[in-house]
Amino acid sequence: MRCPFCGHEETQVKDSRPTEDSSSIRRRRYCPECGERFTTFERVQLRELTVVKTGGRKQPFDRDKIIRSMQVALRKRPVDIEEIEMFANGIVRALETSGEPEIASSRIGELVMKALVALDVVGYIRYASVYKDFREPEDFGEFLRELEHLKAETGDKPGAA
Ligand SMILES: [Zn+2]
Repeated sequence: MRCPFCGHEETQVKDSRPTEDSSSIRRRRYCPECGERFTTFERVQLRELTVVKTGGRKQPFDRDKIIRSMQVALRKRPVDIEEIEMFANGIVRALETSGEPEIASSRIGELVMKALVALDVVGYIRYASVYKDFREPEDFGEFLRELEHLKAETGDKPGAA
């Protein structure tokens, strides 16, 4: 498993155990290169979902990718892995119940941003600045207006994904 922080190829599994609801195996991993720790969840997928990237390339949906990208965005932020896991579950549920076997990667990006805005605004800004590929300072202005709008939408409902 590649380290999501530094890209190092080899990471060590420190601990493996089923999650509380037994729907997945939780693995704590350690990167000997940068010393960062992260967690992965291996889960039986109920439906096969395919992600369609910008440009049309397709790849199998990978729930772990959502968790890893959220972990990177929330690095050193006061957010528990359990909270990330809960929001990731919400995203997967939303995708699985949408009835669509193919999902645009941009749709996943939007759902991750919605989760992050509810979890931690700093993590949200980190994720969005990469995801939206900010180049100019003005890009932030529009972004912050969107943020106010999103906060208004999700602010009163902690736990809603
Ligand atoms: Zn690393």
